Amino acid sequence: MSTVHARQATIYGRVVLTAEIHAVTGLRIGGAAGGLAIGALDNPVVRDILTGQPYIPGSSLKGKLRSLSERIAGLETNWRINNVYLHICTGDRGRQANAGYDDCPVCPVFGVPGDQYPSAPTRLVVRDVPLTEESVERLRRARTDLPFTEIKWEAAIDRVTSAAVPRQVERVPAGAVFAPAELVFTIYDSRDFDRFRTLARALQLLEDDYLGSYGSRGSGKVAFRDLVLTAKSRASYDKPEAELPRRAFASCGELLREIDDIVNWLRQQIPVKGSE
Ligand SMILES: [Zn+2]
Repeated sequence: MSTVHARQATIYGRVVLTAEIHAVTGLRIGGAAGGLAIGALDNPVVRDILTGQPYIPGSSLKGKLRSLSERIAGLETNWRINNVYLHICTGDRGRQANAGYDDCPVCPVFGVPGDQYPSAPTRLVVRDVPLTEESVERLRRARTDLPFTEIKWEAAIDRVTSAAVPRQVERVPAGAVFAPAELVFTIYDSRDFDRFRTLARALQLLEDDYLGSYGSRGSGKVAFRDLVLTAKSRASYDKPEAELPRRAFASCGELLREIDDIVNWLRQQIPVKGSE
């Protein structure tokens, strides 16, 4: 067995992006069926096991942002994880390290399986996003079909008999707000400032697409609101949070319009050795 001596990646800083995610239409992110045992729905939404409240798993959000980023870049999917097809830069491990990967708009940001490149840290971490307390209260008062969710009846067509078969779809109602969404983007080298563009673009792509399932039938339209970027240089980890440099944007359209300026600003806030 050969040993790969991975160069340890240096963290020069982190960009923390927080935002609210508004469900513009009903939102359905599936959980495990039969979780409630008797009388369980066929396809329930994913809920926090302690509070019973629906949430947006960071893995769902990140997976969708990745898939849209792959598609806008026209990258071929060559990797299968369960039933999901991905683009992964595989390269030639024995040869010059990181050929292809360094220029890929997707893999350095969203990550590759650990054995593909000797030194390929994932830049982006996406946390689970809870319902806001205000939305929890509003949904409680609204007396929804199930706690915090609505049941939408759809007609599924039986392909053999052509009969319409009613089907239940559980969704978080339109208007619900999830926050804080927290996306943490780590700066490992000077090219990472430009790689941040991939994330900004992906947020906009997601607004025009959908999150969760049944998107082609109207579910899952979301909007990002009140976006805040915080630049955390290595030195700033010794400072109080309140003094960190921040920029706020009402929408991801606004953030995207200022992206050139943002990338320059991040470069100034997060010094990277060897690139000043
Ligand atoms: Zn790639």
